Amino acid sequence: MRKIIYVLFLFISAAIISSCKTRANLNDTSSLTVNSKASEAKPYLILVSLDGFRWDYVERFKPPHLTSFIKNGVKAESLIPSFPSKTFPNHYTIATGMYPEHHGILGNSFYSYEKNVIYKIGNRDMVEDGSFYGGTPIWVQADKADMVTASYFFVGSEADVQGIRPTYYKRYDGSVKNEVRVAQALQWLKLPAKERPHLITLYFSDMDDIGHRFSPNNNEKIKKALFDLDETLGNLFKGVKETGLPVNIIIVSDHGMTAIPVKNYIPIESIKNDDLFLTISNGAIVNIYPKDKTKIDSIYNYLKKKETNFKVYKTENTPGFEYVPKNKNWGAIQVLPDLGYYFTKQTSIETMNSKNPNAVFGVHGYDTSFKDMHGIFYANGPAFKNGYVMPSVKNIHIYPLMCDILGLPIPGDIDGKLIEMQGVLKSKE
Ligand code: AMP
Ligand code: ZN
Ligand code: ZN
Repeated sequence: MRKIIYVLFLFISAAIISSCKTRANLNDTSSLTVNSKASEAKPYLILVSLDGFRWDYVERFKPPHLTSFIKNGVKAESLIPSFPSKTFPNHYTIATGMYPEHHGILGNSFYSYEKNVIYKIGNRDMVEDGSFYGGTPIWVQADKADMVTASYFFVGSEADVQGIRPTYYKRYDGSVKNEVRVAQALQWLKLPAKERPHLITLYFSDMDDIGHRFSPNNNEKIKKALFDLDETLGNLFKGVKETGLPVNIIIVSDHGMTAIPVKNYIPIESIKNDDLFLTISNGAIVNIYPKDKTKIDSIYNYLKKKETNFKVYKTENTPGFEYVPKNKNWGAIQVLPDLGYYFTKQTSIETMNSKNPNAVFGVHGYDTSFKDMHGIFYANGPAFKNGYVMPSVKNIHIYPLMCDILGLPIPGDIDGKLIEMQGVLKSKE
């Protein structure tokens, strides 16, 4: 018996160690990208994503490290996410410079007609399947220019997009401590020049986790999480400075957060009809995929009659999109809760009610003209001006800015434009 337990222990330990170790591109170190001489001469860029960090947190709570980072760098009044303001579509928009419509990650869940499957962020095989991911993520663009890249988490970084992953990357594991992520980033910057990544991505989910649980209005909880995160970032800034390398740091978030009381959740079951259509809920937008294309009008009328605290639209007439949506994976009809309402499962509503019917939670996903949905854009480093503040800007424009800093060509098929961001850059001599 003891022997069995020992063998089991060895097996589990080996599994844990192997799942934590850095995965090298194509799992074959001999094929790892190395920097060309031209890439070695380029500056460095760390892209930090703080999930769910709302635009007003720094001014509200004044965390010391972020405050001085901004004071000596640049900031936008807010970062406008792309619709819908959820994690996967927006991270991948930041990574590619494309709207969700064009890069294909339409929500945290969506139906794919091409593959006849429902993409879900909890499904590892799908999250790591590059064929879901359109566009050219910044690390792929860098790799094509023989530039080493690294990622301690970022949506899309675990997938073989165009057959390419970051040179060094990690499979997502939210339980990895923030200090470990920062320490690894600093280690990467200490590699020999040929192997040293010029682009590093980092991801921290703390503000999203706390914002959902306690709502963005809970000053005490938000401030505590913010100051802990600020400490982590302070260590990153200090470590980066000590390298003496020309490192630029861009800090973004994917979306903001708004408060809603338990009574404002709408059970998704109230609009479902599995015989007539498939229903995919992202909370603040529900995609409806009719089973029979000739029944779109009758389904629309059926749902329209049910409207209470939500509105029903044919996809092409849905407000909130920055363009007329044409990607068929949106489905033919969209159901949008009114601001301050949110769709979820009946069982989740029951659980919330049984714990505390007066509780208030945080949610996001709404139309991006609602400022609570806005996130952050802060940057600091040799490429950036000092003490510069720009108006709110869309997150599609960050990609061309990153290309410019790293000296990479800007692909012609993206939605973002460098001109929208150029003001933050020091003028080149
Ligand atoms: P959302 O509610 O839309 O903000 O989703 C946030 C959640 O996405 C986080 O709590 C993470 O658990 C999850 N997440 C972030 N990055 C990844 C990733 N690379 N793979 C899987 N899940 C992720
Ligand atoms: Zn998010
Ligand atoms: Zn969230």
